[in-house]
Amino acid sequence: MAVPKSTGTENRRPLDGGGAVVDVAADRATNRELFESIEAGAGEAFDDYLATSERHYETAMEKFVYEDRSSLRDWVDLDVMRAAPVGVKLMRSMQGHVDDYFENPKLQQIMQYTLVFLGGSPKNTPALYNMMSHVDFNMGVYYPTAVEPNENGDHPGGIGVVVDAFVDLCRELGVTFETGVEVDEITRRRHGFSVVDESGIERRPDRVVVNADYAHAERELLPEHERQYDADYWDDRTYAPSAYLLYLGVEGDVPELAHHTLVLPDDWDPHFDRIFEDPAWPDEPAYYLCVPSKTDDTVTPEGHSNLFVLVPIAPGLEDSPAQRERFRERILDDVAEHADTDLRDRIVFEEEFCVSDFVDRYNATQGTALGLAHTLRQTALARPPNRSTAVDGLYFTGSFATPGIGVPMCLISGQHTAETLVEDVN
Ligand SMILES: Cc1cc2nc3c(=O)[nH]c(=O)nc-3n(C[C@H](O)[C@H](O)[C@H](O)COP(=O)(O)OP(=O)(O)OC[C@H]3O[C@@H](n4cnc5c(N)ncnc54)[C@H](O)[C@@H]3O)c2cc1C
Repeated sequence: MAVPKSTGTENRRPLDGGGAVVDVAADRATNRELFESIEAGAGEAFDDYLATSERHYETAMEKFVYEDRSSLRDWVDLDVMRAAPVGVKLMRSMQGHVDDYFENPKLQQIMQYTLVFLGGSPKNTPALYNMMSHVDFNMGVYYPTAVEPNENGDHPGGIGVVVDAFVDLCRELGVTFETGVEVDEITRRRHGFSVVDESGIERRPDRVVVNADYAHAERELLPEHERQYDADYWDDRTYAPSAYLLYLGVEGDVPELAHHTLVLPDDWDPHFDRIFEDPAWPDEPAYYLCVPSKTDDTVTPEGHSNLFVLVPIAPGLEDSPAQRERFRERILDDVAEHADTDLRDRIVFEEEFCVSDFVDRYNATQGTALGLAHTLRQTALARPPNRSTAVDGLYFTGSFATPGIGVPMCLISGQHTAETLVEDVN
């Protein structure tokens, strides 16, 4: 079950410069009107843009994403080459692509903000990822809710219910889970593997699928002769952003915000530069605000709202308590100024999560929140493989492998890895 959601806030001010607020609706016709109202001709450009996105999406899904093409031979197939949406033009940057359609910087941003969730910037992400706009604008944004009611008769929602549904399905299929166990070593033995956890307990599986951060597994879990890459390879990768996350429970409603709100400075290049070019905390942050209680009244006590602020920041940044405190103040000021809502005196619950937490809790390389960025040299074949080339019986899956970053891509990655493993066993 899923509820369609609009993004953005009320269209309270015209898009004529700083401080503009715009509502991106759940339906395409309203969005077309919105684009035309901001820039003459942008309504038609919006249609053209989405038609192209849809074509690229369909081709990518059919030929590239669901089909794991892990070797050059798989790509040198006439049928695939003909279908490839990767003409020379689409290998340039997303910025070049949106320039062809829209002049207004805010319209360009609306078409490009999903790049942050691919771990890239408008300058370093190939234009072929314009297909993401088909997902947002044509297919829609949904909020998952549990099909079965809980003990209170409610249908709770949020991404956690998708996880629960997978766990239920896996258990039905005979999978057993052990959680909260950290693996310290994976070593190939004559028969199968030795997998040793942090308490020294050894398990002896026939095959191993690693879903942990790929670089962590290669550098810290496997012995040197069982690794595929040397230290230079991992040092040379572009890691997707980390994040500063501020989770808040507040008294009362936040009528100024929608379920999804993006706060984007008119010129967001300096923020992207501080992620990819010259790592530092951003002065003028671009960020995402989420208020699940707008849609789901099971997530807060009555009379309260919950929200989180997600600011993409450079992986590997130093995030001392003093730095985090300064940034918290900066963000709460910014929310007050740009989203018209001062939350400070209403906060009843608060938690932060940042670079070092991603390292400590998830062994994430440089504290990346997402994995390996989708830059041109880290797309498709150029991502690490899901079958180890160094050790038989060892597999990888998730956000470092193909097809890439984000929950849907990681689920498809799991499917690729499972198919590869089954093929090897049979
Ligand atoms: C704040 C935030 C918001 C996001 N929003 C979206 C979104 O809106 N849409 C979207 O599609 N994606 C989103 N993502 C990205 C998405 O969550 C990730 O791309 C995806 O979860 C990665 O899946 P994965 O299976 O590769 O790795 P993970 O989900 O990170 O799983 C890896 C697991 O391995 C465990 N592990 C690591 N080392 C070891 C070890 N030595 N022993 C045992 N276990 C270990 C970790 O603890 C972790 O549980 C978001 C991510 C973040 C952080």
